[in-house]
Amino acid sequence: MAISSDAEATPPISDPVCPHCDGVGYYLEAVPYGHPHFGVLFPCECKMAEKEQRVVAELQQMSNLDAFRDKNFDTFNPNITGVQRAYERAQRFARRPQGWLVMFGNYGCGKTHLAAAIANEALRRHISVLFAVVPDLLDHLRSTFGPSSEKAYDERFEQIRDAPLLVLDDLGTESATPWAREKLFQIINHRYNYALPSVITSNRKPDDIDPRIFSRMADRTISEEHVLIDAGDYRRLTFEQRVQRFPLPQQRRRYQ
Ligand SMILES: [Zn+2]
Repeated sequence: MAISSDAEATPPISDPVCPHCDGVGYYLEAVPYGHPHFGVLFPCECKMAEKEQRVVAELQQMSNLDAFRDKNFDTFNPNITGVQRAYERAQRFARRPQGWLVMFGNYGCGKTHLAAAIANEALRRHISVLFAVVPDLLDHLRSTFGPSSEKAYDERFEQIRDAPLLVLDDLGTESATPWAREKLFQIINHRYNYALPSVITSNRKPDDIDPRIFSRMADRTISEEHVLIDAGDYRRLTFEQRVQRFPLPQQRRRYQ
């Protein structure tokens, strides 16, 4: 809320009673009988601000970003060799989340920071976002899964699957029980089919990722390029990963 610099004209900030509606939360317009607004209660801006705060708080709670609150674009150093391109791409995606952004890089290269920065930026723009570290996500789903809590599980699963923006960090490090693998595939396949904005990070080689999942990540129609953060050990990357540093428009590749 803007605070006027004219102290005399402004009520004390701590004043709990809204001067516009006397704290009622609604106001009537001073219009004559017969006017379409006559007798209509309008929500006061103080009420709107409250609602806005509630929405933001709800989005924050849903986002699972508490532990990553400080990981934003301002706290990321784009001058480290090898991260510039990923930094720019992540910023572009954050401004306009569309399709998938897939980022590969070794442990410690900054991909989690960038993924969290995208999520924090989305939150700032009031886009509903869910940030999930893949192994934790699957543990969480497992813990809510059971005959007694079927509804809670279904709701949670749908929330994740349908999140307007989903950030999946650390794909490929999950313990690959058949159940977990299937759940992860269902989430990713659904987001692929409906082209839902998603960010996926991984430090694995394509060969180490479930081929059903990787073939979807590799589809250029949803993920126009794979960003490689080569701040780490670039030499160890496979040929396929290296060539994916460059966008290949209209080219479809399958890795199955
Ligand atoms: Zn008010």
